[in-house]
Amino acid sequence: MVVEQKSTNCARCPFKIADRVCRKEGGKYPDNCPTILKKYLAKDALAEYSKPENANFARQASIQESEGYTNRELGYSRVRPAKTRIEEILEFISKMGYKKVGLAFCVGLRKEAAAVEALFASRGLEMISAICKIAGVPKEMIGLKDHEKIAIGEPEAMCNPILQAEVLNDEKTEFNVLLGLCVGHDSLFLKYASAPCTVLAVKDRVTGHNPLAAVYTLDSYYRALK
Ligand code: SF4
Repeated sequence: MVVEQKSTNCARCPFKIADRVCRKEGGKYPDNCPTILKKYLAKDALAEYSKPENANFARQASIQESEGYTNRELGYSRVRPAKTRIEEILEFISKMGYKKVGLAFCVGLRKEAAAVEALFASRGLEMISAICKIAGVPKEMIGLKDHEKIAIGEPEAMCNPILQAEVLNDEKTEFNVLLGLCVGHDSLFLKYASAPCTVLAVKDRVTGHNPLAAVYTLDSYYRALK
């Protein structure tokens, strides 16, 4: 059932991408279009990009975006993707001149974290890394019952994303990279981290950390989700 939409929902925009008002002046838009209805916010948002803490960051992020493609000189229809996400993260760190980088990772991705840490360190970065189980606090401390744990009947440390963030804050990291944090734990890390953050990979235990695999197969193998 498609619900009539009053609030912002660009995901349901009915127009071809090239024809939309957010892509070209005088373009098409639905009744709930935020480009038209939220002009009062757009002005304030633009002003935020002028702030010293955002200006260069925003500029370099958009340069990084463009540089993610080759063949730009041949026209938009001929561009090709050029860089993996980890390359982009390294390049962005270099563009921003960051020297001290935090890595917040999940215990389930400790091998990947070791590889990422070694790679980043080999590029001359000072790496501060913090595992999700940091401090080894029992899950009972946040109210979990034994049957709510993974290893029922055994001691189990909770994921501690707030402490992960606080430790990286304490070490004064300039930029943080998230690697495989759980749904919700990543939210808390992002809520408490002082430095700007990016995500190298999100956790998906079933798909080898490729959550879009389930999205791409929503009409076939994952149709039961709909
Ligand atoms: S901003 Fe407006 S035109 Fe652009 S996708 Fe959203 S609803 Fe569609």
